[in-house]
Amino acid sequence: LEDLNLEHYTTLLQSRKDEIVENLDTLNKSINELQSLEVNDEGDFASVSSDSYTDNTIIAYQEEELREIEGALIKITKNPEDFGICEMCGEDIGVPRLEAKPHARYCRSCRDLVEKEINH
Ligand SMILES: [Zn+2]
Repeated sequence: LEDLNLEHYTTLLQSRKDEIVENLDTLNKSINELQSLEVNDEGDFASVSSDSYTDNTIIAYQEEELREIEGALIKITKNPEDFGICEMCGEDIGVPRLEAKPHARYCRSCRDLVEKEINH
């Protein structure tokens, strides 16, 4: 079991969370502005709807990441001994992976398995 610096990961998670909350705020504002614009012809309509489709996809991804970050913060508070442990196989997720993605729930090999399942 690795000795993880939980304070460090809490700071990382918290600043990533702030960043996402701000991004979502900006995205939601720009979508509201788009929706309030008058659409003059079919060309404009097509470009507005494809833009908002992209925005909605980004929002969905960011909201998902936000949920995972909040889950990781709760885990650090309530079950700090579970933080950094793969939820599937119980192995250490590993510092390099946690540095890149502190809200990671699975180690790299289990993550690959989970993603294959989802894509099927
Ligand atoms: Zn694993």
